[in-house]
Formats: sequence, structure tokens, C-alpha cells
Amino acid sequence: MSNKAPKKKLPFGRTAANIGFALQQVWETSHGYFIMHYLLTFIYAPLNFFSDSYLLRLIINGVENGTPASVIATYIAVIAVVSIIVNFISSFYWNLVSPKQIPRVSAELQKKLFRKAAAVELACYENPEFYDRYAKAMNQTQNRVMQVMNTVNNLIWRVITLLCNSFLLFAIDPLLIVFGLFPLLLGFLRRWHNRINHDNAAVRTPVDRRINYVTRTFYFSDFAKEMRVGGMHKRMFAQLAQAYQEYKVIWRRFGLKAALARALQNIGLEVITILGTMLYAVWRTVGDGSMSIGDCLIILNSIGTISYCLSNMVQTAAEFNEHALFLQDAREFLDYQPRMAEDENAPLARGGDICLKNVSFRYDGTDADVLHDISLQIKAGERIALVGQNGSGKTTLVKLLLRLYDPTSGAVLLDGRDARDYRLSSYRNNFSCVFQDFKVFSLSVRENVVLRRARDGDAELVTEALRESGAYDKVMTLEHGIDATLTREFDDKGVNLSIGEQQKISLARVFAEEAPCVILDEPSSALDPIAEHTMFENMMRAARGRSVICISHRLSSAVDADRIYLMENGRITEVGTHRELMQQNGKYAEMFRFQAENYVGKEAACV
Ligand code: ADP
Repeated sequence: MSNKAPKKKLPFGRTAANIGFALQQVWETSHGYFIMHYLLTFIYAPLNFFSDSYLLRLIINGVENGTPASVIATYIAVIAVVSIIVNFISSFYWNLVSPKQIPRVSAELQKKLFRKAAAVELACYENPEFYDRYAKAMNQTQNRVMQVMNTVNNLIWRVITLLCNSFLLFAIDPLLIVFGLFPLLLGFLRRWHNRINHDNAAVRTPVDRRINYVTRTFYFSDFAKEMRVGGMHKRMFAQLAQAYQEYKVIWRRFGLKAALARALQNIGLEVITILGTMLYAVWRTVGDGSMSIGDCLIILNSIGTISYCLSNMVQTAAEFNEHALFLQDAREFLDYQPRMAEDENAPLARGGDICLKNVSFRYDGTDADVLHDISLQIKAGERIALVGQNGSGKTTLVKLLLRLYDPTSGAVLLDGRDARDYRLSSYRNNFSCVFQDFKVFSLSVRENVVLRRARDGDAELVTEALRESGAYDKVMTLEHGIDATLTREFDDKGVNLSIGEQQKISLARVFAEEAPCVILDEPSSALDPIAEHTMFENMMRAARGRSVICISHRLSSAVDADRIYLMENGRITEVGTHRELMQQNGKYAEMFRFQAENYVGKEAACV
């Protein structure tokens, strides 16, 4: 455990800018809501002072001075009317207006964050610092924006209340202001207490993270099997025990200091400010008789309010700093300019030959190229197989084709033009892709198949695509057919399909789309050999006229390709048709024979 608490404090200008950013989000979503939120405080705070302090003083002094009962009754009636109005307005606001507007503000913010998340390049997800900021922005921003609204609201409330009560005290006896200002002197204690809490929270964070991780392993279904079979729970219990040990150390380090800081603050406030004022007011009322009972009571009431407002204003500064720190993550994330931006004015891509010219590539944060000087050409309509050992660079090459990354040197060309010159979305729309780690979403089968188009209808297209991918029979057994929801995330009656069935659904996307180039990255990894064979036959038939680039570890699927590229350690070492490569008798031929013999050998062993 690191015992060093990271001290984080933003400069005043940055804090103000971040708070302004939060307020701007609400203002942009709804001017009306923003104005109403603060206008109410501007009305409510003085009214509250008027009925709680000012009118009360009038009434008590009135009783003491023998004011007629009808006048006093009028004062009470005024308080009643003010109270009814204020309560009506604020109840309607908090229960009717606010619950409708808060989700609107959240939704607008989420849209901004999601748009940015979709726009940043894939490499950002592999950069821990960026990813951490992104995760914090996603988790915290919505809440923080609303918290800023409330903190600003509290600040306005306190300033108005403070001013009104100070004027009143000043009017009664200017000396009382000295007592009123005393809580400001206690600000250093408050700041000390906040710093202890902040440091405490900072060293607790890694321990909290560990406990969260352990908790997740117990309730996320991803871990359920390992937990039961592998006995992982014992390791997790050990982690938990260690975390609670660390909590004890933290408690020892901060507990006493926090208690002392709190006690000194409370004593200073209650004994010196409140009791001191009380003593002074009572002496003036009872001792030399220069103050009315009404004024005496109001002083006691107001001094408490002033102390509370002042000491809480120091707290407000700490709150602003905390909000600003979290909002800094969101602002940096939203301000990030993606390296691959969508240029609305760039030309649209419309298929054509694909060409890699001396392409080399290195992942960010690594010190060696994973692709070295690769050149190849795929003519429109050609069927290409990329084969090679794990780690030889096949998937990386496909990621460059899709412009998930740009080459470190060299270029990818489409129809003779550098891929970077096209409008990004239009370039990517040239490809239909099934990844090794394909995903199905918690949507209907139909929506999973037509993700890009997402049009109503399309039933025929979906059904046909499911037939081609081999998922049709299974989908027809589901109660709602192509409208069945996948997974139970959103729908209790959702369907959980096997991995192979899910892969067939994601393959159906490729059949349903009309992109000029189909990329299949290990599309058969979860299929059995018969399903794999059928899928390849269907793919070749459906892809007629479209280019197909296929990565498969089963070399039998490469046999019919127009050209096979063998990759080794990030280089292309052999190129040709199956027949040519077998005749070359190089690495490809060796791998092919090894796989074929293995199959036949295993078959013979089973007979
Ligand atoms: P293949 O698809 O042939 O199995 P990959 O293209 O996935 O190979 O990987 C090629 C090399 O690049 C491997 O050494 C792998 O460890 C490395 N690599 C893959 N993805 C990343 C990444 N995101 N960051 C750093 N290195 C990576």
C-alpha cells in the first residue's frame, strides 16, 4: 500500500473554469431550468430571512411594547402567506420541474461523452492514463454537474442569508459583527480537517478498488465458473482480509487527527461564538436593560445562522475544488482532438483495389515494430487468405486496413488514394468485419444483424443472412424468432446463446451488409468443422463480387483463396495460391501438411 497521499489542488482559474463548464452544460440544455433553479434561491432566501428573523423580531418587540393584537395578527398572517407561497413554489419545483430536467441534462452530457468515446482512436483505449481519465469522466461527470448546480445554489443561499442577518445584527448593535466574524478565524481548522479527509480518501482509494474488485468477482457471471471450479474464492478472501488490515492502518493514521480537528472546530464555534454572543446579549438585556427581549432573541437566532453560513462557506470552497478536479477529467477527455478525425469535406470512399505500400507499424508505448515493410495488393473481388502463427501480425494488419490505427510508416491505399485522405466513416463503411473477439449486443436478433442500417423492416434480409451464416434454424426455435432479445441484460425473457451461435449471428451481419470488402478474422474459431465448412462455402457464394480477406488458423479454409499470404514475425514471407505454395515446399506447405496429418491421424485414432 502506498502511504503517500497524492495532493491535488487546481489553481483558482482552472477551478473557476471547470465550475463554469458544469454550469454551461446545464445552461445549454435548458435555459429555463437554469434560470428557475437560481431565481428560486434569490426569492426563497430573503423570504426565509424575512419570515424567520425579521417578522419574528417585529412580533416579539411588538408584544413587549404593547402593540395592538390586530397588528401582531397581521404580522403572523404575513408570515403564513409567505410560508404558503414559498412552500408551494419550492415543492412544485423540486418534485415536478427538477426530476424532469435532471435526466435531460444527464442525457445531453452522456451523448457528448459517448460521441467523443466513439470518435477517439483505438490506441486511446490502450493508453492507461487516457483510459483512466475516460473511465472517470464516464462515471462521474453527470453527478458532478448536478452537484455543482447545488453547491452554487447553497453558496448563493448562504451569501444572501449571511448578508441579511449581518445587516440585522449591525442595525441592532454593530459590535455583534465581531462575534459573527469569529467563525472565519476557525477556517484554518476547517481546512485542516478537509485536508485530513482528502488525504484519507486518497490512500483509501486503492484499498476501495481492491474491495470492489473482490466484490465484482463474486457477482459478475464472467467469474462464476472459475470461482466454483478453481477455488478462487480463497484467494479473494485473502485479498479482502488484507484490504481490511490496510483500513486499520489508515484509521490509525488519520482517525485521531480528524477527531481533534472536528472537536476544536465545534468547541470554537459553540463556546466562543454562540455562547459569547449569548452572554453579551443577555447582559445588555437583563444587565443594563439597553436591549429589548425581541432583539435579544433575534441576536441568538441570527448569530447561529451567521456562524453556520460562514463555516459552511469554507466547506463550499473545498467542494468546488473537489468538483473541479473531477470535471478536469471530463474536460480533458472532451477537449481531446482525435488523431483520426472525421473530416466532413473529405472525399467519400467507394470501394476499389486495396494496396499496402511499405507499411510498418508499432503500437504506442512499445519499442519494436510489429509489422515490417509490408507491401501487398488486393484487387476488387479477390479472395485473400492471411495465414501464420499466433503473434505474426495478421490481426494488426487487418486493424490497419480498417483504419483503427494508421501505419507508422508507409501507406494503405484504397482505389489508388491514401486511406487517410477519405472521410473516416465512409472509408470504414467499405468493410464488413467479423472479429475474433466478436460481440453480440443486448438487442433483438434483427438489430444485431442490421446494426449499421438499423431500419425497421428488413425481415427478409435478416432471415436470408441468418440462413447463410447457419444461425437460422436456431433463431427459428426462439419464441420471438428474429425479434427475440439476446442476453438477459434488459429483458428477463432474453435468450442466452452459445458462443458458436453468437458467432453465427455476428457473421450474419457480414451477409446482410453490402460493403465492398469483407474481413473475417478467425471467423470460425467457435464453430465446429462442419459448420466452418458450410460457413466458408456460403461466405464465398454470398461475397461474390466483393473482396474477402480471411484470417484462419485452419489452413484448409485457405485452399480456395485467390492468393495466400504467409506472415512470420510481422513480415510476409510467402505469397501464392495453395498449389503454388505447396510446390514451393516452404513454411506454408510444412504447416499445411502438419495440420492435415494431425487431422487424419486423430481421425484414424478414433476409428
Ligand atoms: P496475430 O493476429 O497474427 O495473432 P497480432 O496482430 O494480434 O498477431 O499481434 C502481433 C504482435 O503485436 C504480437 O506480438 C502482439 O503481442 C502485439 N500486439 C497486438 N496488439 C497489441 C497492442 N494493442 N499493444 C501492443 N502490442 C500488441
